[in-house]
Amino acid sequence: MDSKQRVHMNQGQDETSYARNSSIQSAQQNRMKPLIEAAIVGLCSNPNTLLSGKMAIADLGCSSGPNALALVSIAVEATHNHFLRFQQPPPEVCVLLNDLPDNDFNVVVKSLVALQQTNEPVCLTGIVPGSFYERLFPSGSLHLVCSSNSLQWLSKDPEDLVANHISAYDFDEHIRRERLPVVAAAYGRQFRKDFTRFLKLRAKELVPEGQMVVSLVGRRSDKLATEISYVWGTAAQILGVMASEGMIDKKKFDSFYIPAYGPSAKELRVIIEEEGSFSITEMQAHDYATGMDRALLTPNRIANTLRAIFEPIIVQHFGEIMDEFVRTGEKHLSLQRSSQVEGTKDPIVMVVVSLAKA
Ligand code: SAH
Repeated sequence: MDSKQRVHMNQGQDETSYARNSSIQSAQQNRMKPLIEAAIVGLCSNPNTLLSGKMAIADLGCSSGPNALALVSIAVEATHNHFLRFQQPPPEVCVLLNDLPDNDFNVVVKSLVALQQTNEPVCLTGIVPGSFYERLFPSGSLHLVCSSNSLQWLSKDPEDLVANHISAYDFDEHIRRERLPVVAAAYGRQFRKDFTRFLKLRAKELVPEGQMVVSLVGRRSDKLATEISYVWGTAAQILGVMASEGMIDKKKFDSFYIPAYGPSAKELRVIIEEEGSFSITEMQAHDYATGMDRALLTPNRIANTLRAIFEPIIVQHFGEIMDEFVRTGEKHLSLQRSSQVEGTKDPIVMVVVSLAKA
């Protein structure tokens, strides 16, 4: 099934919403700030890129809640500061926010109006619904593309698994472990296809020498690791426990896929270099929890973050099971934590990359 029909974060602003359960992602966005500021300085000091006196900035996969405007606000402020420093009038800025059509754009639109009222620079705004694996903007129209915590989402379930009826997960932990190399490789191939397409499309839409700063969930190691190194690993483990305890149907679990994949930094570099439209200005891999108070990362908090992210996909496949998911998740994560060796590094990292159109 096409992920664009299924993927969206929990809507609204209640207790289970993405808006109220995305502070982990917000900490990641803060870490992108220096790279976005550097990209803006690069664009503003390059006489070729701002010839028209206008600048278009887009955030792809903005979602809803406080994070939706975080990256574009950093970029607008950096533009303002740059021109203030040189006592020159800033360019007109156009801010465009994208997400899939099922995203909750209601609150986003209201906060966009606040940004629009910024006097300096003059700021115009727009929403562009659609998949970032399709064309979204006119060619040669964007100066800066940002995206955080979104590009690990694939365009669809891994084709090779679906076509060959290979289950990604199993309630039996041993079977899951044995199958992991095949499953991980199929996910990796789908990611390569999707990310390559993403780069080609954005290369068309950016102006010459345009810039891109993106972060996505990735893996610390580029070797095959345990399932918790994969974006879907913990959710699949929780569902595995639920299947083995009879809370969800085992057969249904066999045909369930989460369309998300986190590459290692090295894997991402190879894809970018092979595609060839961009050169890498900087690439970093951060600990996921850096910049956060670790004491706040309780099993309950993590289970609720997983809920805000995966609920729409899980409910479409299994029905209303999310309260049990959170309860089982909390228990599973507490057990996992107590058996963890002190000082072990989290296998999931945040990969941040700053790119310039070649
Ligand atoms: N940028 C925000 C939100 C990340 S959540 C933050 O950092 O907190 C990931 C978002 O990506 C979701 O809102 C989801 O709907 C969106 N997304 C996933 N696949 C997408 C696609 N193909 N095109 C556009 N948006 C997509």
